Amino acid sequence: MTIEKRSWAEPYKIKMVELLKMTTRGEREKAIHEAGYNTFLLRSDDVYIDLLTDSGTSAMSDDQWSALMRGDESYAGSRNFYNLWDAIKEFYGYKYYVPTHQGRGSEHMLSQLLIKEGDYIPGNMYFTTTRLHQEKAGGNFVDVIVDEAHDAQNEFQFKGNVDMSKMEKLIADVGADKVPYISLEGNVNMAGGQPFSMENLKELYSFCKKHDIKIYLDATRTAENAWFIKTREKGYENKSVKEIVYELCSYTDGCTMSAKKDSLVNIGGFFATNDEELCKKAQNFCVIFEGLHTYGGMAGRDMEAMAVGIKESMGDDHQRARVGQVQYLGQQLQKYGIPIVLPVGSHAVFIDAKAFLPHLDQNDLPSQTLAAEIYVESGVRVMERGNVSAGRDPETGENRCPKLELVRLTLPRRVYTQAHMDVIAESIKEVWDRRDTITGLKFVYEPEVLRFFQSRFEKK
Ligand SMILES: *Cc1c(COP(=O)(O)O)cnc(C)c1O
Repeated sequence: MTIEKRSWAEPYKIKMVELLKMTTRGEREKAIHEAGYNTFLLRSDDVYIDLLTDSGTSAMSDDQWSALMRGDESYAGSRNFYNLWDAIKEFYGYKYYVPTHQGRGSEHMLSQLLIKEGDYIPGNMYFTTTRLHQEKAGGNFVDVIVDEAHDAQNEFQFKGNVDMSKMEKLIADVGADKVPYISLEGNVNMAGGQPFSMENLKELYSFCKKHDIKIYLDATRTAENAWFIKTREKGYENKSVKEIVYELCSYTDGCTMSAKKDSLVNIGGFFATNDEELCKKAQNFCVIFEGLHTYGGMAGRDMEAMAVGIKESMGDDHQRARVGQVQYLGQQLQKYGIPIVLPVGSHAVFIDAKAFLPHLDQNDLPSQTLAAEIYVESGVRVMERGNVSAGRDPETGENRCPKLELVRLTLPRRVYTQAHMDVIAESIKEVWDRRDTITGLKFVYEPEVLRFFQSRFEKK
């Protein structure tokens, strides 16, 4: 659905450029071999267009760069801590917060403070670090996302929704007192950047009130989720992203946040809550793992740049171009017949690697294989979101073999142009044309946790 007739040209102009290195195919073959066929282990100098992640890779504005100069590097009580607090109160509406070095710092805090051994933590699909922190705190993650989210070809507009019958079943099975909170993610990353609707959240809100279960939002991409609510949900077309984010946060008790995504900074995060007592505990926890509670692992200047970034992330024009660019890349790939997850999400286009390489078994690691092939083809770096990311079942030790076996093309915010999108799509088409000749990969090194970051592979 288009909001305006004209296309979504970038609402900024370029003041400074960073030159890209071009490589030959031979150089790329050598580089990916040395990286153990894991795109995380490539040197960024060997990468042409970097779509590994949208985490911490966005371009800051001139206003954010100026904010760095306003850094107050006092050990305690920095003015930047208060400016960031004001931004959180204004845009997210939470009363209290604790800064953290990045998102997982806040997940660590929330999990350790609220989860007891044997608890169950529902979530609208898992996120890697989120689930790991829940498990480390003694909790069990339970997926309560709607079934549509697990079907790459299903075009349901709100694949991030919670299936209320799964919530009811969980409460019936384990009892509400074993469920301290639900972790609700905006624009569900692992489902392809898929939003939940306000209607679904309101339903969840009344359900959770009834059972005294807290809702903690993973607010990492909530402003992008708000853009989808604006463009897809009845009654929200005339509301701003800012108003929508504020409203949806009002149905939650607090959030964990990786500011490296929506908030347009290279590093940072926070934990926010309306519960004063919990905040005090979080501040105390912060001192052990992050730093004093008025900087939480960040420099003063980082907090200031984040305060400005939060404001910019709430701009309708910003989100229109941000999400518009991702949609454009999706359309180009579809034109070539490349199988992608639909509808296209907010931060990335996900290629369905099972459909791209149907001759590979899931234990031949199709997504990992395809990511390596795309790099060799063109120097475009993408990442695996499939069997390798999903890890092994702690009980059986087998690969989890998730339903979704995806390759993620993640777009940093405000970094690449439309011409880059065309080059990316053309390069992937070249891999598509030779897909039948592609063989799989096997592990040669596998770390214990979050294995996708550091595993090494060789060709089968
Ligand atoms: C990135 C991310 C996190 C973790 O944040 P970090 O800043 O990488 O520690 C948590 N949840 C979601 C949805 C994310 O995308």
